[in-house]
Amino acid sequence: MAESVELPSRLGILPFRNKVLLPGAIIRIRCTSPSSVKLVEQELWQREEKGLIGILPVRDAAETTTAIGPVLSQDVGSDSGERSSRVHVGASDSHRLDAKNQQENMHWHTRGVAARALHLSRGVEKPSGRVTYIVVLEGLCRFSVQELSTRGTYYTARISPLEMTKAEMEQVGQDPDFMTLSRQFKAAATELISILEQKQKTEGRTKVLLETVPVHKLADIFVASFEISFEEQLSMLDSVDLKVRLSKAIELVDRHLQSIRVAEKITQKVEGQLSKSQKEFLLRQQMRAIKEELGDNDDDEDDVAALERKMQSAGMPSNIWKHAQRELRRLKKMQPQQPGYNSSRVYLELLADLPWQKASEEHELDLKAAKEHLDSDHYGLVKVKQRIIEYLAVRKLKPDARGPVLCFVGPPGVGKTSLASSIAAALGRKFIRISLGGVKDEADIRGHRRTYIGSMPGRLIDGLKRVAVCNPVMLLDEIDKTGSDVRGDPASALLEVLDPEQNNAFNDHYLNVPFDLSKVVFVATANRLQPIPPPLLDRMEVIELPGYTPEEKLKIAMRHLIPRVLEQHGLSSELLQIPEAMVKHVIQRYTREAGVRNLERNLAALARAAAVRVAEQEQAVPLSKDVHRLASPLLENRLASPLLENRLADGGEVEMEVIPMAVNNHEISSAFRIASPLVVDEAMLEKVLGPPRFDDREAAERVATPGVSVGLVWTAFGGEVQFVEATATVGKGELHLTGQLGDVIKESAQIALTWVRARATDLKLAASEGISLLEGRDVHIHFPAGAVPKDGPSAGVTLVTALVSLFSQKRMRADTAMTGEMTLRGLVLPVGGVKDKILAAHRCGVKRVILPERNLKDLVEVPTEVLANMEILLAKQMEDVLEQAFEDGCPWRQHSKL
Ligand code: ADP
Repeated sequence: MAESVELPSRLGILPFRNKVLLPGAIIRIRCTSPSSVKLVEQELWQREEKGLIGILPVRDAAETTTAIGPVLSQDVGSDSGERSSRVHVGASDSHRLDAKNQQENMHWHTRGVAARALHLSRGVEKPSGRVTYIVVLEGLCRFSVQELSTRGTYYTARISPLEMTKAEMEQVGQDPDFMTLSRQFKAAATELISILEQKQKTEGRTKVLLETVPVHKLADIFVASFEISFEEQLSMLDSVDLKVRLSKAIELVDRHLQSIRVAEKITQKVEGQLSKSQKEFLLRQQMRAIKEELGDNDDDEDDVAALERKMQSAGMPSNIWKHAQRELRRLKKMQPQQPGYNSSRVYLELLADLPWQKASEEHELDLKAAKEHLDSDHYGLVKVKQRIIEYLAVRKLKPDARGPVLCFVGPPGVGKTSLASSIAAALGRKFIRISLGGVKDEADIRGHRRTYIGSMPGRLIDGLKRVAVCNPVMLLDEIDKTGSDVRGDPASALLEVLDPEQNNAFNDHYLNVPFDLSKVVFVATANRLQPIPPPLLDRMEVIELPGYTPEEKLKIAMRHLIPRVLEQHGLSSELLQIPEAMVKHVIQRYTREAGVRNLERNLAALARAAAVRVAEQEQAVPLSKDVHRLASPLLENRLASPLLENRLADGGEVEMEVIPMAVNNHEISSAFRIASPLVVDEAMLEKVLGPPRFDDREAAERVATPGVSVGLVWTAFGGEVQFVEATATVGKGELHLTGQLGDVIKESAQIALTWVRARATDLKLAASEGISLLEGRDVHIHFPAGAVPKDGPSAGVTLVTALVSLFSQKRMRADTAMTGEMTLRGLVLPVGGVKDKILAAHRCGVKRVILPERNLKDLVEVPTEVLANMEILLAKQMEDVLEQAFEDGCPWRQHSKL
C-alpha cells in the first residue's frame, strides 16, 4: 500500500454513483450492468499484468441542481460499436461529455481514485446466461480527469496524477504546520483505535498501522472507514493538499470519537435501565406465576389497603395507632418480595385483629339465673358453687372490682373446666381456654421478640385474638404444670398477667405495645397446689374439688352424663337405657378415679355400641305396604313416633318416611317395635367394656401372703391405694428398693427397716422365727406399678407394716389401708391429702383406714356418707398402727418399752 503507483495516462473508468472510493480503502462490488462488466472484463480480467481502473464518483442529475463538479452527458447501455465524444474543459475545470443518447444526465466528478483489483470472480447468471463479476478493489491514488470518452460500452479517461511526488512530500514533511497537524491527527487516531480495540478486544492489531503507514495515507484510510456523507467524501477526495487533508481528517476523527463516546454513554444508560427493568419484569412474572400456582391472585396493593381499613376499624388507642401507622408506612415502602415484608404484614394483621375495644356486651347479672345455671350443669359441689355465686355477686356490685383470681384445684375430671365455662355463661361472656401444661418457656406466655425468625405472640395475646373480645373469661388451664428452665420462668410472666396492678399494660414481646388485660376475667385450674410457686398462689383464691364419692358419681352420671352422652350420639332414653345398677357397676368395676371423665368415656362407649344396634335394626324395619315415601314435613304428622322425632331433630334433608293418618295403630306399633329401648345389662357391659378392671377381692388376694401391706397415697389423679411388698433373702443385710422411688420414700424405707431391726426383740420377731434380722438377710422392698414414679414420706407406716408382716409371717388385714409418716423413734406424723386418700380407699372397698392421730381435723372435709361406711383408726405411735393392721392385734405390744 505504501508503494507509489505509476499511473498510465488513460484509465478505464467505473462510475461510482453517489459514492467515493478513497485511497487505502478496500471495497467489494458486484458488476452486473453490461458496461461495467465489459470494463472489468477488458481492463482487469483479460489482462495478464495487474490492471488498474479509475473510480470516478458520479452524482445523479436529479439529486442536485447545484452540481459541485462538471456535468457530463453520456450514452449508456449500448454495445453498438465504438463512439467517441469530446470533453469540453472549461475554466471551471468542468467537463461536459456529449453523448448521442441524452436520456440520462450524470454529473461526473473531475477527480477520482485509481484502483486495482485484489480479487476477481466471474459468475454466470442462470437462466439468462448473463456474466457478472465480483471485484474486490483497493483505492490507490488520486487522479484528475482531463478528458472522458467512451470506448465501446464503457468510459475511459485521460488522466493526470494528483498525488505529490517524493520530493514534494519531503518538503512538506519539514513544514511545522504539517508536523503539528500530523501529531494531532496521530493522537486522535491513536485514541480512536484504542477505543475501538478495547471494544472489540483486539488490542494492538490496528495500532501497527499508525507506525507503518505514512500519515497522509492514514488520513484517507481513517476517513474511508467512517460513515460520512457523500459531500464530505468528495471534499476529502478533493483535498489534494496534505495539510488540508489532515485537518479535515482530524475534524472527522474527532467527530467520530465524540459520537462514539456519546453512543457509549447512551448504551450504558440504556443497558443499566434495561437490565434493571428487565430484572423487575422477570421477577414480577415469576411472582405472578407462583401466585397463580397457589391460587392467590389478589393484588398486594389491594391487600395493604384492606389491611389499613381493618386497622382503622380496630379501635386502637391513639399511641398504638401511631405506632401501627409507622409500621404500615414501612410496609408500603417495601416490595412484597423483600425479606421483612411478610413478618411486618403478619404483625400488622395481629394489631388489626386484636380486640382493643371490642367487648361482649355485659348484661345485668342475674344471680338467681346464674345459680340455676350452675346447678343445672353441675351436681353437688355445693361449697364451690356458693363461692362462685359470691364471686359473681361482688362483680355485680362493683364491676371493676379487682377480685381474686379463682383457682380450681383437684384431680382430672372433677369439673374444673366446666365450672369455669359456667362462670363465663353466667356472666354472658365469651370463654377461652389456654392450656399451660408443659409450658417451660417464658416466651410462650410473653411471645418472642420480632427480631427472631418465626417469632409469635404469646398464648395470651394469641388467645385474645382468637376470642376477638377484650373481656372474655380466660381459663389458665393446668397452671401447676408450668416449669422453669434456661428459657425463663413462665410463672413470673403469669404473675404479671394475674396482678391487677400491672395487667392493664401487659407487655407481650412480639406485640411490643402494651395491651390492657384488666377486663379479662381469669380463672385457673391445677391438679396440685404444691408445684404452684407461692407468689403466684398468693394472687389466687384456691377452691378445692377433691373428687366424688361413688354415690355422687352415680348421681352425676344419671342426671348429667347419661343425658349428654345420649344426645351426643343421637340417641334418646327411648332407645337406650342404662339402669342405675349398671352405672354402679361401671363406677366400681371399670373406673376407679376421683373425677368422672373415665366414667363419661365408658358411658359413651355404651352409647356408641347402642347406636350401631339401633342403626342396624332401623335398616331392618320392613315397611308396611301402606307406608308411603313422602318428602313432606314430618311435624304436620301427628303420628310421628319418638324414633321419627329423633330423626327430625337430626335435621337431615333426607327423604323421610311418613305414615299416613289412615294407618291403624297396630301397624304403627309393629313397625316400631324395635323402638323399644335397649337396656344395658351385665352381658352388654362385658361385651362393650371388656372384663371388669377392678374388683373388691383385689386387696384380699394381694395380702394373702405375709410381707404385703396396703397404703394410701396421693397423686395428681387424686388418692390411690398402693400396695407395698417386702421379701428377704440370704445376703449381707442390705436393703434393695424398686418401683421408681424418689429420695424421700427411699429414706422412709431405711427408717422403717432400722426401726424394725431396733424393735426386733420387743416385737418378738427375731425370736419367733429364729432368724437374725441384723445379719445374713438382704431385704427387698417393692412398690408395684413399677413404671409409675413415687415419692413422699407418707408410706412410712405402710413400710413398717410390710416388714413386720414379713418377719412375723403374719398376714395384714385385707380390709384395712393406712397412711402416715413415721419418725425413727416410731412416732406417727400427719400427712397431706387425707380427704383424697379416704375417698380412694372408699372407692376400692376398703373398710378400715389407719390415719395419724393429728389428721383427725381433716376428716371434716370428708363427705359424711363416706365416713359412715368406714372405720377410721387413729394412730399416735407405730405400735398403734401394727395393733390395728393385724387380725389379732399386736401381741407384742406388752413387750414394748415405749
Ligand atoms: P377437669 O377440668 O376437672 O379435668 P372437666 O371440667 O373437663 O374436668 O369435667 C369432665 C367432665 O365431667 C365434663 O363433661 C363435666 O361436665 C363432667 N362433670 C364433672 N363434674 C360434674 C358435676 N359435678 N356435675 C355434672 N357434670 C360433671
